[in-house]
Amino acid sequence: MASSIAFIGLGNMGGPMAANLVQAGHQVKGYDLSSQSCDAAAEKGVTIAETTSAAVKDADVVVTMLPAGKHVLAVWSEISQALKPGTLLIDCSTIDVESAREAHVLAKEASCLSLDAPVSGGTVGAAAGTLTFMVGGEEAAYQRGDAILQAMAKRIVRCGGAGAGQAAKICNNMILGITMAGVCEAFVLGEKLGLSHQALFDVASTSSGQCWSLTTYCPVPGPVPTSPANNGYKPGFAAALMLKDLKLSQEAAAAAGATTEMGARAAALYEDFSKHGQGDTDFSGLINFLREASGR
Ligand code: NAD
Repeated sequence: MASSIAFIGLGNMGGPMAANLVQAGHQVKGYDLSSQSCDAAAEKGVTIAETTSAAVKDADVVVTMLPAGKHVLAVWSEISQALKPGTLLIDCSTIDVESAREAHVLAKEASCLSLDAPVSGGTVGAAAGTLTFMVGGEEAAYQRGDAILQAMAKRIVRCGGAGAGQAAKICNNMILGITMAGVCEAFVLGEKLGLSHQALFDVASTSSGQCWSLTTYCPVPGPVPTSPANNGYKPGFAAALMLKDLKLSQEAAAAAGATTEMGARAAALYEDFSKHGQGDTDFSGLINFLREASGR
């Protein structure tokens, strides 16, 4: 069934996601602070509103895709007066678990339903409508949100109550940051030991070292022709976003009292890497930083 959807945040991810909702037959009214993002979304059939409140007026569903928790809380607070009771709010941004839970409270106070539904799959998945959604919220919200998310998704995983989607996202990305650092270190060590990239790949990709960071995003050119290493480390998944997610994992670990030493080490590595002006490169480019640290 077609819904009237407001989409706030039409950037690299939100723009193509909103376009897929239009494609699925929904009426989509969008808003973004950037006129460039608005123009690109308008070309894909999104009706552009003058303000956030104008975008959400009469909406059945509101989707936000914003940089961080403070932006989501600001927008959800701002729109709360303009929402019809029963509106479903879905936040797809990657934000801290605490802010996600606060956003659910704001929705409840406005008599609305809500989901935290961060994604993995990057800009390619956003454009193709093949994102994986990790969803937290109450059953009623999930039941209504499913049909909306389907238009943008390959997979939808129900993770639990308020904030559980964000918790799953940052735990997953902590694994990703740690495994990429490990794979990069293994290739640097292999080079020092005179091992060819292909030989290490052939062994590790079919042995216990196998992981996504190796077999999909291999940090050296050659073994996986589609990995960013073959394209000058153009993202892909930018190191700055990896750092953002690792920092979120460390904030959550501190608040929850979990010991995540490997996560902390990966966060420190990506912080150094980003400080060296590499935040815009793919996160697999960490290998070049580690080579330099190894004297090459
Ligand atoms: P982006 O910077 O391209 O887009 C964010 C948009 O939000 C911008 O266009 C900005 O103008 C807009 N915005 C900020 N404050 C606003 C406000 N108050 N009102 C309206 N618009 C506002 O970022 P992105 O790459 O689209 O990422 C969005 C979210 O998705 C982030 O939380 C990011 O961590 C997450 N994410 C990104 C990727 C990726 O590969 N890019 C993958 C998974 C998750």
